[in-house]
Amino acid sequence: KFNTNVGQHILKNPGVADEYSYLKPTDIVLEIGPGTGNITTRILEKARKCIAIELDPRMAAEVTKRVQGGPLQKKLEVLLGDAIKTEFPPFDVCISNTPYQISSPLVFKLLSMPNPPRTAVLMFQKEFAQRLVARPGDTLYCRLSVNAQFFARITHVLKVGKANFRPPPQVESAVVRITPKTGAERPKFNFAEMDGMLRVDELVRAKVLRVLDQLEMTERRARQCDETDFMKLLDAMNTEGIHFS
Ligand code: SAM
Repeated sequence: KFNTNVGQHILKNPGVADEYSYLKPTDIVLEIGPGTGNITTRILEKARKCIAIELDPRMAAEVTKRVQGGPLQKKLEVLLGDAIKTEFPPFDVCISNTPYQISSPLVFKLLSMPNPPRTAVLMFQKEFAQRLVARPGDTLYCRLSVNAQFFARITHVLKVGKANFRPPPQVESAVVRITPKTGAERPKFNFAEMDGMLRVDELVRAKVLRVLDQLEMTERRARQCDETDFMKLLDAMNTEGIHFS
């Protein structure tokens, strides 16, 4: 019944996400991927309105049917489509048991909004969540960590084991809370440009590693190399357009 290709893993205990979102009765909530609506109904009970973006028409129909004829119906708006390609309406809080395929673009989309939400409570694959909160020096510290932490305070909320989902995914999950920085705290530089620079760093590193690999020098340490090795290395780097001065 569930299409795991688009990340359909239904949360059996929907409380894990909403306890941490501090919803106010005046809030408009954006939910990404409502599925059958387990989290959606909780949101509707607490907030003014829930706008849910769902890719799968069967799921969109199911969540719509779930509230039909009841008191929550008028508070729910379902948008059928890909959350990454859909223009976000204004909202206060984002809640998502994220389809893991869109984790990275979703975070980038939320953080690059001109008027970002007050907070986002998002469930991710555990490793992705760990990368989001990683600090300099941590093994998982990467471009995602730097970018995301420039624009938001990110805290790990809780781990969620596989057994909490139907069908169980292959990986463990975790909920994080992302609170976008506002006002003077929000960096003034261009998001795309900073990201571009961080990507270049990855590219250069990848290039260097490729050159080392071509020369079968990946495992070598500088103190094991002789003059010929260093000549070969510099020559290969320069040929790749990598310069050190
Ligand atoms: N929120 C439900 C729950 O927790 O039980 C379902 C979560 S399930 C992990 C992810 C949901 O996102 C599925 O219903 C899937 O169809 C939907 N989905 C997948 N890719 C999507 C996308 N690009 N945009 C919007 N929804 C998407």
